[in-house]
Amino acid sequence: MRTSQYLLTTTRETPADAEIISHQLMLRGGFIRRLAAGLYTWLPLGLRVLRKVESIIREEMERTGAQEVLMPAVQPAELWQETGRWEQYGPELLRFTDRHQRPFCFGPTHEEVITDLIRREIRSYKQLPANFYQIQVKFRDEIRPRFGVMRAREFLMKDAYSFHLDQTSLEQTYRQMYEAYSRIFERIGLTFRAVQADTGAIGGQTSHEFHVLAASGEDAIAFSDKSPYAANVELATALPPTGERASPKETLSLVETPKQRTIEEVSQFFNIPPSRCVKTLLVEGSEGGFVALALRGDHELNEVKAQKLPQVASPLQFATPEQVRETCNADVGSIGPIGLDIPLIADHSAAHLTDFVCGANQKGKHFTGANWKRDLPEPITADIRKVVDKDPSPDGKGFLSIARGIEVGHIFQLGEKYSQALNTTVLDETGQAIILTMGCYGIGVSRVVAAAIEQNHDEHGIIWPDPIAPFQLALVPINAHKSVRVRETADQLYSQLQATGFEVLLDDRQLRPGVIFADMDLIGIPHRLVISDRGLDAGTIEYKRRRDGKTSTIQLDNLIPALK
Ligand code: ATP
Ligand code: MG
Ligand code: MG
Ligand code: MG
Repeated sequence: MRTSQYLLTTTRETPADAEIISHQLMLRGGFIRRLAAGLYTWLPLGLRVLRKVESIIREEMERTGAQEVLMPAVQPAELWQETGRWEQYGPELLRFTDRHQRPFCFGPTHEEVITDLIRREIRSYKQLPANFYQIQVKFRDEIRPRFGVMRAREFLMKDAYSFHLDQTSLEQTYRQMYEAYSRIFERIGLTFRAVQADTGAIGGQTSHEFHVLAASGEDAIAFSDKSPYAANVELATALPPTGERASPKETLSLVETPKQRTIEEVSQFFNIPPSRCVKTLLVEGSEGGFVALALRGDHELNEVKAQKLPQVASPLQFATPEQVRETCNADVGSIGPIGLDIPLIADHSAAHLTDFVCGANQKGKHFTGANWKRDLPEPITADIRKVVDKDPSPDGKGFLSIARGIEVGHIFQLGEKYSQALNTTVLDETGQAIILTMGCYGIGVSRVVAAAIEQNHDEHGIIWPDPIAPFQLALVPINAHKSVRVRETADQLYSQLQATGFEVLLDDRQLRPGVIFADMDLIGIPHRLVISDRGLDAGTIEYKRRRDGKTSTIQLDNLIPALK
């Protein structure tokens, strides 16, 4: 590609509304442009990176034998009503009606659609196990879209769904996917960790998240210094030392809060900086909504960001502990602030909870067996690190240390959650219908691009890992408009290098060399070749590696072998 004919728009200024480095550099380097909150256009340069990430993911999915499909982004409400998620999912689900007033949503995830497909398509146990994936646009109406494509509303996801006759088969595929994910992030060149995780709105029992380690990460993850134990702090602090789910007998503290307060005020009331706000559980009871602050023993249950509540229609009423006890009748095992089994706390946004009614309004969906008590322990002002860094590892081996991570992937053992609701069965050897067991596996393809920058940049700009760089080589002729020799050599090398398989960006913009160098550094091209009259006099060209700035002089007639 020649820059003179390429849409390359770089800026020196840091955009005011971009808080984190990846967002800043993606704007400054001309990788993305914002259309509206959480909606981004991928410019040619950015799209090249996105496609590289995509193709590494696709290769590794194919290698596991998963089959690629492409499902519609728009989904009929009926399917979501069948699984109950139409009611449960909350305001992150973008709902709308067509011209016939039929309700639809823009898919935030595709469990319903794939399960519906499979219940129609797969008849016999002989066709299983099977795993289907797609790379496709999702929409989640995030309460606070930010950090550019890192937390967008429309974003690209790779999602896969596997179907099995039994748990053993699910576990095999789950393992395979775990390994495929590890290979994907290794190939991209990221420093990452797989951690045990909460299952959130997707559901199921076992799940792991893949986190790219970076100071800007929105999640905190806990590692043991003496064992392979690693978990999202959400989970690490929510689980008792055995590593099993907390018993319903777990003591929770419930704190009475003043009436009709916003979440910001609640966080103020508890004397917690909004960025370290503890989980506020917003529960809608038959008497109206209330907010409870859940704490486990003398620990913070979780780390949650304070969120605004634009979606709450009526002013909130805050309940007393007595009201909570009454409303949250203990009769179902899996739901509660400790079990973390439910959509309730899926995305840490309290607004999300208003639509997931977990009080008396919905039968069978209650808090369970929590012993609520009135006393508020010490106000939690400490950084989560201080709380958990001191803790022994839940597996009893060593102590925890905390790092920040960006969730780039998440795999789940779903069990029968969707296949049961959508009555998805096959006939086994004896002709008996059995309900399928499922797994699902997501990667935030577009988020990976931003995460890669968080880990790979310096004061001059991005430093792409080679496998996802938009171009591998920047070819920079100095004063080409004055020197025919330089121009011709550049043209020749450009064709030669491309023919050899290199992806080359030839900078023929006739700008000052300093400006070109700064641009090539900013957009992160891993390797740079400079052609100048002075070099050509000596039969050489200059090579510079972006990552460490190391330069060397290469004999022109030995260029291709030297680059390989
Ligand atoms: P998060 O905790 O960041 O909100 P999630 O747990 O809601 O993510 P999943 O339902 O696990 O997301 O979806 C699979 C993957 O999709 C995530 O691991 C993440 O990489 C990506 N993803 C989720 N939400 C967004 C978003 N708003 N923008 C970009 N990528 C996202
Ligand atoms: Mg998450
Ligand atoms: Mg989310
Ligand atoms: Mg997740």
